[in-house]
Amino acid sequence: MSDHVQNLEDFDPKVHEILEAEDRRQGRTIRLIASENYASTAVRDATASRLTNKYSEGYPGRRYYQGQQYTDAIENLARQRACDLFGADHANVQPYSGSPANLAVYYALLEVGDPILGMGLPFGGHLTHGWKVSFSGRFYDAHQYPVDRQTERIDFAEVRRIAKDVEPRLIICGASAYPRTIDFEAFAEIADEVGAYLLADIAHISGLVAAGVHPSPVGLADVVSSTTHKTLRGPRGGLILCEEEHKKAIDRAVFPALQGGPHMNAIAAAAVAFGEAMTKDFKDYAGQVVDNARALAAGLESLGLRLVAGGTDNHLILVDLTPRDMGGRDAAVALEKAGVVVNSNSIPFDSRGPFDPSGIRIGTAAVTTRGMDADDMGRIADFIGRALDHLDDDQALNAIAAEVEEFCSDYPLP
Ligand SMILES: *Cc1c(COP(=O)(O)O)cnc(C)c1O
Repeated sequence: MSDHVQNLEDFDPKVHEILEAEDRRQGRTIRLIASENYASTAVRDATASRLTNKYSEGYPGRRYYQGQQYTDAIENLARQRACDLFGADHANVQPYSGSPANLAVYYALLEVGDPILGMGLPFGGHLTHGWKVSFSGRFYDAHQYPVDRQTERIDFAEVRRIAKDVEPRLIICGASAYPRTIDFEAFAEIADEVGAYLLADIAHISGLVAAGVHPSPVGLADVVSSTTHKTLRGPRGGLILCEEEHKKAIDRAVFPALQGGPHMNAIAAAAVAFGEAMTKDFKDYAGQVVDNARALAAGLESLGLRLVAGGTDNHLILVDLTPRDMGGRDAAVALEKAGVVVNSNSIPFDSRGPFDPSGIRIGTAAVTTRGMDADDMGRIADFIGRALDHLDDDQALNAIAAEVEEFCSDYPLP
C-alpha cells in the first residue's frame, strides 16, 4: 500500500472504502469495455504525484507562473517521447482528454459554420465527429458518412461521393466502434482530392498504432488526435500530433483558447505510458490484444452469434443480438450479473434506439493486460454464451459470476 492509500484510509475512510470496493470489482470481473484498460502501477504513481499541486499555464520555456523547473522537464519529456513513439513532428500533451483534444483541433483548423465530414455515430464514429448533440454538430455544418449496408465496412466510393458533394473543410476518420482496419491512405487521398484537412482520431487504437499492429496515420493525416488511456494504457488524458505547419495553431487552440492550467500529474503519467509503449513488452502486449480479439471473435461465432463486419482486425468486436431476439441493454445487464462487463452499442442501420440498441461492444485491451491469452478467450466466450442463454435467470447468472471470480483470481490486477 503506497503512502497516499494509507493516508486515505486514515483521513477519509468513506472514500477509501468506495475505492477499495471498486478495486475488488475490477479484480473479480472480466472487463470487456473496449475503451478501458488497466494502467500500470508506475502510471498510477505518477498520477498521484505532487505535480497535481502545480499550476503551469503556457508551454515549456513560456510559462505564466514561476516555479517551472520540473514541469518544463516533464512536459518536454512527454512531448519528446510522444514524437518518438509515433514518429510525429510535434506533440501537444496538454488536452484534458480525447474530446477536448478534438475540440482544439477544430478550433485550430476551422471557422464556426465550416462544413465537416465524419463517421456517423450509429456507424461507429464518436460524438465529437459532428454528431448533433455534441459541440461538433452544433458549431459546424456537420455531415456524416455511413458504412456499407452489406459489408458493414467503410465504403470509400461513398465517402468520396459525399465529400465531393459537401466539400468539407475537414474530414475526420477514426472510430469508437469499428472492428476493422482503417485505411488512412484512402482517407488522405479523398481529403486531398476535395482540398480538406484530414484528422485521424486514433483514441481507441493508439496503442495498436504505437506498437505497429495497426497502420499509422502519421504522415498521412494533417493532425492526429488520441486519448492516452484506451489501448495506449496510460492515464486519462488527450494527445494531439501534427506536422510542423499546424504546430502553432494547435498549441494556441489548446492554450489559451480552450484550456487553462495543464494537469501536470497526468502529463507525467503520460510520459511514463509513452515510455512503456516503446518497450518490446508493449509490442508483444498489443499483438496479443489483436490475437485475443480474433480468438474471442471465433469463440463467439462458434456460439452462433453474428459479428458486425464479419469479425475483427483490432481490439474490438461488435455483436449483433438481433438474431437472438434480445436487446443490447438486457444482454449487458445480464452479463454484468454474470461478472462480464460490456456496454450495449448501436450496430450499423440499427432498428432499435440508442438507449437500448441491438448490439454489445467487446474489447480485449483490459483482459490482455491481466495476462489472459487465446485459450482464456475460449473460456470467456463460454461465460458469455451461457449468460446469454440465461438472461432472466439470476440464479444461473450468479453461479456464472462465481466461476468468473475464480477464473479472474489467477490474473492479478497491475
Ligand atoms: C473515446 C473517444 C474519444 C473521447 O475521449 P474522452 O477521453 O472520452 O473524451 C474521442 N474520439 C474517439 C474516436 C473515441 O473513441
